[in-house]
Amino acid sequence: MIIGGIEAGGTKFVCGIGNEKGEITNRISIPTTNPTETMDQVKHFFRGTPLDAIGVGSFGPIDLNRNSGTYGYIKNSPKVEWKDFDFAGAISSIWNVPIGFDTDVNAAALAESIWGAAEGLSSCLYITIGTGIGAGMIVQGSMLSGISHPEMGHIRVRRHPKDHYEGCCPYHHDCLEGLAAGPALEERWGKKGVALKGVDQVWELEAYYLSEALVNFILTLSPMKIVLGGGVMKQHQLFPLIQKMVQYKLNGYLSFNELSQENIAQYIVPPGLGDDAGLKGALALAMRAYQSKL
Ligand code: ADP
Ligand code: ZN
Repeated sequence: MIIGGIEAGGTKFVCGIGNEKGEITNRISIPTTNPTETMDQVKHFFRGTPLDAIGVGSFGPIDLNRNSGTYGYIKNSPKVEWKDFDFAGAISSIWNVPIGFDTDVNAAALAESIWGAAEGLSSCLYITIGTGIGAGMIVQGSMLSGISHPEMGHIRVRRHPKDHYEGCCPYHHDCLEGLAAGPALEERWGKKGVALKGVDQVWELEAYYLSEALVNFILTLSPMKIVLGGGVMKQHQLFPLIQKMVQYKLNGYLSFNELSQENIAQYIVPPGLGDDAGLKGALALAMRAYQSKL
């Protein structure tokens, strides 16, 4: 099978050609400018490749309600040129093949559960901490969804008593994303995350907020594995801090083996697929769309 995958991010689109095993043979990175320009380059990359299916993992929010008149559209995006863009429609007007379309984080969660850190497990929560915070949850092979996709990055978390930063979410100010995504780090501390590497205080506060969220997700979703990706999680010193704080905040209430001292480092983990989780997720979405048409 020849499968096309598009990891559509707010900064760049990564397109790849691969197969049903998630192997990628060819890829390209295209800057996200406006829909006309970017989609032209996407089309150009795939030109001449006989695709059997195509999958898109998109930045959001997107409308995933198949009964809605705007299914497949990008919704309230801060990227004004992309707001109300009929993304799924644009793809189906180019390719007459099965199309898988979902959020970038649902795609990454799916790839991690098929080929990555949660392979063989019945559920997986994937969270990205980058320009924004987003999460996707796979349960028994399906994406958790309701009216549309979950927006776990915008939950409210308990404030750290010593943190007076107002938060930068345009909708909620001090939601999780407003307090802990890359732009919040940069605005609070006056430097980009990558330049704050050796400053312990920064990562302790970051782990404080991320562990607040994880405790809520563990208590509500009970995932078998939690995968943390995105640019901010390149700071690997965050992992042991988050693991310790999650245990501290749960305070022994959940006595699962996964949360024990010996096992927690295998429970809250970086992506098994590294930076390929998103693109491989797009391939997985395509594969599913293909199989559902058989
Ligand atoms: P996006 O979310 O746009 O797809 P990323 O996941 O790379 O892209 O996230 C970008 C954000 O992560 C930026 O705010 C950036 O400052 C931050 N970031 C990227 N790399 C690092 C790093 N090594 N350490 C800390 N923060 C980083
Ligand atoms: Zn918010």
